[in-house]
Amino acid sequence: MLKKIILQKGKEKSLQRFHPWVFSGAVLKKEAGIADGDMVEVVDYNHHYLATGHYFNSSICVRVFSFEQVLPDADFWKQKILKAIAYRRDISLLHNEKTTMFRLINGEGDELPGLIADWFDGHVVIQFHSYGMYLLKETMVSILLELFPGEIKSIYNKSEATLPELKSFSPKDELLFGAFDEVLVKENGIPFYIDMIKGQKTGFFIDQRENRDLVRQFAKGKRVLNLFCYTGGFSSYAVEGGASLVHSVDISKKAIEFTDQNIAMCAPKPDVHQSFADNVFDFMEEMKPDFYDVIILDPPAFAKHHKVKEQGIKGYRTINRRALEKIKSGGFLFTFSCSQAISQEEFQTIIFSAAAIEHKKVKIVKHLQHAMDHPISVFHPEGSYLKGLLLYVE
Ligand code: SAH
Repeated sequence: MLKKIILQKGKEKSLQRFHPWVFSGAVLKKEAGIADGDMVEVVDYNHHYLATGHYFNSSICVRVFSFEQVLPDADFWKQKILKAIAYRRDISLLHNEKTTMFRLINGEGDELPGLIADWFDGHVVIQFHSYGMYLLKETMVSILLELFPGEIKSIYNKSEATLPELKSFSPKDELLFGAFDEVLVKENGIPFYIDMIKGQKTGFFIDQRENRDLVRQFAKGKRVLNLFCYTGGFSSYAVEGGASLVHSVDISKKAIEFTDQNIAMCAPKPDVHQSFADNVFDFMEEMKPDFYDVIILDPPAFAKHHKVKEQGIKGYRTINRRALEKIKSGGFLFTFSCSQAISQEEFQTIIFSAAAIEHKKVKIVKHLQHAMDHPISVFHPEGSYLKGLLLYVE
C-alpha cells in the first residue's frame, strides 16, 4: 500500500483533467512518514483515489505517472518505455539511417514525468528531473538494455544539473553502462560530434531538428547568420543547403571549436563558413546592416522562471529589434524562445513590439516548435517550452 496525500476540498479538478503535477498549495494533509522520492497516492478531500506519483517536498510536490491505481513494478515501467519506443518507430525515427539521434523519452509527454532519454546512435543519455525517478535508475537501465538487445553502446546519467541536492544525496554525472569515446551521429544525413559529458543539456539540442531542416530549404545562395550557435546545428544545415556565406556566433569558445569541427565535416564547401566567439549582444551592435538574408536567433532561456520574466522579455526584445533593424529587406528571421515562463502569445507580442519600434513590416510565415520526438500531453501545456516564429521582413 502506498502512503496517501490528501488534497484540499475542490483541488482535485486538475488531476481529474489528467494534469500530471500536484502543487504543494493544494495539499491538505500528508500521511506520516512520506519521504522525498517516495511513490504516493493522491486522494481528494473525501479520500477518493485520483492519481499515483513521486513525492518531493517542493512547489511541485507530486509528479504523477498514473491515473489508475497501481503498485508499479518493473513491468509497469517497461510498458511505458515500450510505448515511447513504439511512438518513435511510428514517426520513423527508430533505426533511421539518416537520423541516428532522437529523443526516446520526453518526460510528461511520454507519461514518464522526471525522465528524459536521448538516443545518440546507441549511446543513451538519461537525465532525471525528479528524485523519485532517479531512485528507479537501475530499473530503467535494465529495461533499456532488455528492449534494445545488443544495440546499446553506453548509458550515461547526466543529471547533476537537473536533480535537487539533498542532505543525504548529491547528484553526480556517471556512466551506467558500456563505454564511449567520440560520439558521431547524423541528423537528416548531416554529421555531428556530440560531447555527452561537457556539452549542454544531453549533448545536443535535438528539439530543433525540423527547424534546422527548414533553414536548409531557405539557405541556397543566401548569407546566413546563426546567433547563439552552440555546436553549429543550424550552421551545418545552412552550409549543406548551399548558403553563399554562413556566420556562427557563440560566447563559448568550446562551443565554437565544436562548431568548426562539425562544419569541417559538411559535404559541399565548408569554406563559406566563419565562426566568432563573441557576445551576441555586442556582435549585433557592430554587425553591418543589410548584409544577412537569413538570421537565426536561438538564445538560451532568458526567463527561466517567472521572477525574471520582465528581464527576459527585455532581452528577447533587444535581440529581435537588432535583427529586424539590420536584416536585409526581404530577409527571413528564425526567432525562438525556450523560456517556459513566456507563452507563444507573449513571445509573439514581444516580436510585435520589436517590429513596431523598428518600423518594420513583418509577416509571420510559420509558427515553429520542437520536433515530433518531443510530444506534449494536451493536459500538460507547460511541456511546450520551445516557441518560434519564421518571419519575413519586408
Ligand atoms: N541554436 C543552438 C542551441 C543554442 S543554446 C543549437 O541549435 O544547437 C544557447 C547558446 O547560447 C549556448 O551555446 C550558449 O553558450 C550561448 N550563449 C549564451 N549567452 C550568450 C551570449 N550573450 N552571446 C553569445 N552566445 C551566448
